[in-house]
Amino acid sequence: MKRRKTLYKKLIMRELKTHHSLSAKELSSLLPKLDFSTIYRNLKRFVEDGILRAVNTGSESVSYEIAETKHDHFVCGSCERVKEIKIEASYLQKYLPRGYSINLGQNIIKGTCNKCS
Ligand SMILES: [Zn+2]
Ligand SMILES: [Zn+2]
Repeated sequence: MKRRKTLYKKLIMRELKTHHSLSAKELSSLLPKLDFSTIYRNLKRFVEDGILRAVNTGSESVSYEIAETKHDHFVCGSCERVKEIKIEASYLQKYLPRGYSINLGQNIIKGTCNKCS
């Protein structure tokens, strides 16, 4: 059982390294040998363990990504592709009311990607 757990983790992490962020549904189509509930259960546990982070991209399903790096995301409104971006806090600060601050690494910018525009 222990060995199987390690295998699931290895498979899931490998896909997330390649694709940056994936929903449970997307993972299950990439890993057809694992059943959906197994993938879902593992994702939940990895989030609890702090290995993965759940990214709410505003679409129906939550995406998961490796928690190592903190960054913001751009989500394409047409194809729902998620891209890693870096937001400059000092630039955005002037748009905020006095005394407000931004939590970097948790923001979603929406728009249209280069493939869809
Ligand atoms: Zn797009
Ligand atoms: Zn990301």
